[in-house]
Amino acid sequence: MSDSEAVGGLWREAGAAAATPALLDVAADGTLTVRTSADGQELARQAIRSVEISARVGTIARHVTFASGGDFETSDNDGIDRLRDRHLGRREGLIHELERFRPRLLIFVAATIALCFAIYRYAVPVLVEVAVLVTPPAVTDIMGKSVLMSLDQLVFDETKLSDARRNALDTQFQALVAAARDMPAASSPGPSYALNFRGGGQIGPNAFALPDGSVVVTDELVDLADDDEMIMGVLAHEIGHVEHQHSLRQIYRVAGITALIMLIGGDIGAATEDIMTQGATLVALSHSRAAETEADRYSVQLMHRTGQDPAAIARFFELLRDKFGLGGDVTFLSTHPATQARIDETRRYAEEVKAGKR
Ligand SMILES: [Zn+2]
Repeated sequence: MSDSEAVGGLWREAGAAAATPALLDVAADGTLTVRTSADGQELARQAIRSVEISARVGTIARHVTFASGGDFETSDNDGIDRLRDRHLGRREGLIHELERFRPRLLIFVAATIALCFAIYRYAVPVLVEVAVLVTPPAVTDIMGKSVLMSLDQLVFDETKLSDARRNALDTQFQALVAAARDMPAASSPGPSYALNFRGGGQIGPNAFALPDGSVVVTDELVDLADDDEMIMGVLAHEIGHVEHQHSLRQIYRVAGITALIMLIGGDIGAATEDIMTQGATLVALSHSRAAETEADRYSVQLMHRTGQDPAAIARFFELLRDKFGLGGDVTFLSTHPATQARIDETRRYAEEVKAGKR
């Protein structure tokens, strides 16, 4: 028992009007006692857990109601709170209410994270596949045109290649497209391919494809290549990305992740818009390693079908490696790492295709 915890107040027996000055105290085992202030005579005794303590409302007097109906009234709000908090454990009181809320909040946060992870891991890939399936060509057209438009504003210059050079390359490109339409897995009617020439500006030698079949090649890449077959090997690789709908998948994946971010953080407004517009641009240019392998193999097969060197794309990677090194500061290399493993694997696959094993 501790004297410092005793709270002074008035005691009224059930239904009685008369009040007796009294002290409310608590024992270490949580038993409350009410004694008269005058001579310490015990008036009531009960476990603190089973008495009713009125809520704190401003400076209004508090009531501790005993099972007998007896009532202890006090204006010592702090005294009552102190006494209750120390002996009721974590079961009641405003402070305790908060502490009780915290584990619930943690569970809620953990559940939200788990849900988002599950959506990201299981639902997003499925939704991406469904979205790719139902995306009408009009939408991919808009995606392709808007990405190309923003790239034209941000990085590209007009091509400096001569008309003759562009026409020659376009003729070879159209032959690849015709062969691509004959490929076993080709979709029908398939995207409407168009080859676009651009000055690469700060992105230098590069080539990429947009979901609608717009393929872009920079003057720098055309100038860099040792021969036209190398350029066609790269363009065949880009046609592979379009045929496998890699860009569209990638854009939807980012859109799905953005939607998740919005789900967690609420509408993050301008930031989301940035991710959607600039992100779509960047994303359209970078693919997963699996997608890259798929596009490499597609290039090998398409080049073989048009009677050209199936290993042309591997030769182009060797050229990049020799000119710029593996970690070279070339944007095409940052999205298409020219690792020895990639070159070896593509050459091996080209041998298989040539030998008629594929
Ligand atoms: Zn690629």
